[in-house]
Amino acid sequence: MPGYRGHIFIALLFCGLLYLFPFWMPLPLPGKIACVAICVFFGLWPDVDTKSKGQSIFLVLFFAANVLLIYRQDYQRAAYLGLLIVLPLCSRHRGWTHSITAMILIPGALYLAFVHYSNTTPTDLFPYFLAALLGYGSHLAADRIW
Ligand SMILES: [Zn+2]
Repeated sequence: MPGYRGHIFIALLFCGLLYLFPFWMPLPLPGKIACVAICVFFGLWPDVDTKSKGQSIFLVLFFAANVLLIYRQDYQRAAYLGLLIVLPLCSRHRGWTHSITAMILIPGALYLAFVHYSNTTPTDLFPYFLAALLGYGSHLAADRIW
């Protein structure tokens, strides 16, 4: 079982697959950096269901996001975020967060939400969605091999 450093390394290897897609070269540097960060983020995400370095990172990020939402008096989104945070903590390790269904649904739902709430086209955000899929897939592949 690879630790968080192993998952980061494998996510970075999978992220290299983005070079194979035609959208990669014209993507500006901040976009490329964001893709790598998203890939690593989703490379760590599935282990949010167990005591791990990834869980610590995600809980701090979710806590900060929830505090920001409450500060902005966006209580409905804060409540939904709080509900979503609890879900992985209620399941067993390598449960639903380690499924291919979750690999598609979680990045897919975020992709659709960003497409809906931003002024960009689905094509503009597709590299980030693909980076999320590659990161998530890297985690599932690593856990199945080790
Ligand atoms: Zn795992």
